[in-house]
Amino acid sequence: MTEILPINENSLKRAKLLILKGETVAFPTETVYGLGADACNTAAVNKIFEIKGRPNDNPLIVHVHKDFDISYLVTEVPEYAKVLAEKFLPGPLTMVYKSKGTVSPVVSCGLDTLAIRIPSHEGAQRFLKYVDLPVAAPSANISKHVSPTSAQHVLADLQGKIDLILDGGVCSGGIESTVLDCTGEIPVVLRSGLISREMVEETVGACGEYVYREGAVARSPGMRYKHYAPRCRTEMFAPDEYEKALALYDFEAAKGVKACIICDGDGEKFVGGRKYMCLGATPEEMASNLYSELREGENTCDLLIVISPKQSGGVMAGVMNRLTKACGKRYEN
Ligand code: AMP
Ligand code: MG
Repeated sequence: MTEILPINENSLKRAKLLILKGETVAFPTETVYGLGADACNTAAVNKIFEIKGRPNDNPLIVHVHKDFDISYLVTEVPEYAKVLAEKFLPGPLTMVYKSKGTVSPVVSCGLDTLAIRIPSHEGAQRFLKYVDLPVAAPSANISKHVSPTSAQHVLADLQGKIDLILDGGVCSGGIESTVLDCTGEIPVVLRSGLISREMVEETVGACGEYVYREGAVARSPGMRYKHYAPRCRTEMFAPDEYEKALALYDFEAAKGVKACIICDGDGEKFVGGRKYMCLGATPEEMASNLYSELREGENTCDLLIVISPKQSGGVMAGVMNRLTKACGKRYEN
């Protein structure tokens, strides 16, 4: 039985007990829900991979509370990283450093680096402070499915597989944290998110962006996998292919297929007999709504016709990265 509990003294006690016993607990963050376990306990970390069906070469991010001394976990925090941490943490930014080897080697899948995140969500901070341990946590969904942004999403994927979901409401950020490699001369974005490459560049003067090429050794192994995919057919169209997208809608609808158009703009509506689910007007709104709309879409439709928003750059890089991956395309941003 999986319990969903609001975050209070009782549920935190229970969460801590589970973590200390080597079990997993789902918890909210400002990006998506995480599935956490004691990062120093190899058997517990292995459970995360088993529960999710996650490939064992896709490393996990370690979550800590804001007063945690990360020098316990990593060596060599460069000057630019300190400046970025001062500005953006706690927040949706994961920073990769050289590992001290304090946590289980399974967390980083044998890499000599460690990804660390300090979430800003109040419930996440309370949980992390209460357990006061480094907590390894990927998103709390079945591997390759759409990430969860509510306790109900977690339950839909992991019911019966975990004991406890701490319910902290709907995640406001909506897409996973930016992953930033801080092991080199300048920071390099490995995964785009709500802290954009431009924001990092403005703060410390330079920021690279890693683009994965198929066949290469990935610096962030998660990039190689299809991700975030709804459990129904998805088709993606460029902004200038609107007519083509509508033609596909009509062709499929005539056969009885329940289709839906996902695009930018506001609200859910029917126009010209076609169903639209709109992600929002700004990149931040689109990020916030993306996963809940994809989950709503897969639960109510057979075919999602995604029309790419026109905006680009900044936070939009993160939104487009998730959208293209959801539609089965390779990482490109
Ligand atoms: P998820 O936990 O599903 O949000 O995915 C975590 C992401 O962080 C994946 O894209 C991983 O490849 C990336 N990641 C975690 N640890 C490292 C690391 N040590 N070096 C590079 N990327 C990492
Ligand atoms: Mg994930």
